[in-house]
Amino acid sequence: MISRDTFTNQQAFIVTANDLTRPWGGHRDGSRFRCALCGHRFTEGDTARWVFTNGTPGAGGNPFVCSDCDGTNEEVIAKWRQHIADFRASKDKFWSFYPCACRECR
Ligand SMILES: [Zn+2]
Ligand SMILES: [Zn+2]
Repeated sequence: MISRDTFTNQQAFIVTANDLTRPWGGHRDGSRFRCALCGHRFTEGDTARWVFTNGTPGAGGNPFVCSDCDGTNEEVIAKWRQHIADFRASKDKFWSFYPCACRECR
């Protein structure tokens, strides 16, 4: 059973239509509600997980990850830290940096 009490329990959850209307990143259209590792834009029915990283130097931001990118918290944090480091070294816009390979969320 997947808990829907709150995503901050760091348990995987199924994305609902309601989740998509939250003001993620200041946008209510869901365009910023994405997997932080591959850029996948979450849609209803996707599995997502929120990972607390603000306690980890160089890996702040508390990313959401999709089921494809998920792993242990340690794995996600390591990938997320690398992503941030790569992003800071580039001039790309954040979400164009690792575009998701799936067609649905383009
Ligand atoms: Zn992903
Ligand atoms: Zn995608």
